Amino acid sequence: MGETTEHLHCPRCDAERRVIQPWRGWKPAWLAWKVGVVGVLALTPLLASDFCVMLPSMMLYLASGGILRGLARQLPVCSRCSLEIDGAPRPAPAVA
Ligand SMILES: [Zn+2]
Repeated sequence: MGETTEHLHCPRCDAERRVIQPWRGWKPAWLAWKVGVVGVLALTPLLASDFCVMLPSMMLYLASGGILRGLARQLPVCSRCSLEIDGAPRPAPAVA
């Protein structure tokens, strides 16, 4: 998690709140993982030939993709109530 510098409207608090932004490096890491998968798939016969080190390492790498994907999709959260807030513009208030 990162700094709290941006302010967004929190629907739960119904106020402008500071938000905690996820680390911006997760998205490039996720892209790098996707590029790396192509290399892993290309080298699968070579990697699968070593059952002790290379094959478990390949499986760990592939399993880490799910974690990276989840981290890359994190939304900013309200610093007060921890509600995930997307940066979409605020909807117009309902007219009574
Ligand atoms: Zn809030």
